Amino acid sequence: MKRLEERILQDGNIKEGNVLKVDSFLNHQMDIRLLNEIGKEFRRLFDGCPVTKILTIEASGIGIAAIAAQYFDFIPVVFAKKAKSKNLDGELLTSQVVSFTKGTVSDIQVAKKFLKPEDTVLIIDDFLARGQAVLGLLDIVKQAGCKLAGCGIVIEKGFQDGGAFLRKRGVRVESLAIIEKMENGTICFRKN
Ligand code: 5GP
Repeated sequence: MKRLEERILQDGNIKEGNVLKVDSFLNHQMDIRLLNEIGKEFRRLFDGCPVTKILTIEASGIGIAAIAAQYFDFIPVVFAKKAKSKNLDGELLTSQVVSFTKGTVSDIQVAKKFLKPEDTVLIIDDFLARGQAVLGLLDIVKQAGCKLAGCGIVIEKGFQDGGAFLRKRGVRVESLAIIEKMENGTICFRKN
């Protein structure tokens, strides 16, 4: 997605440890016009898939998924919670995710009542790095017995192994920008 790539080049900052900071437009301050374009592009890519729910993970995925859902006929967005909460009741689907940016392990959880076997789920997240977040969400989709439409990722770091691993396992992964290289302050995108 050209506009996204341009924005990454303009406002993205490369940090230590292969981390790209995009907090001025994606995951702290959010550029709603750009998020709308992102939502439309996910819809175009998954057009024809009978998606009934979008699944994401807190916190950064929520805004992106909520805007995208409007282009999928306002289907519900379910987000996996990382923090234990007294408000989470009933049967829970849980999995574990190692955070790429924090290095911590979190138990993620979704109330079973929000994902049903008749649902077709689209997973959406801001970044794909080593694939841990998506694997945790896939585990939850599997436990719920849902069908999977695929994964919509805003920025995939193609030099890390998550994308290749998931595609090899037959998961449809659509990333709007794939970074091939991120070195010495320079970002190169994978050519389609
Ligand atoms: P993975 O689980 O694929 O290793 O990493 C994806 C998750 O880690 C995403 O949910 C995202 O929040 C975070 N993440 C991974 N790499 C980056 C990065 O370069 N920049 C930012 N801001 N977040 C990242």
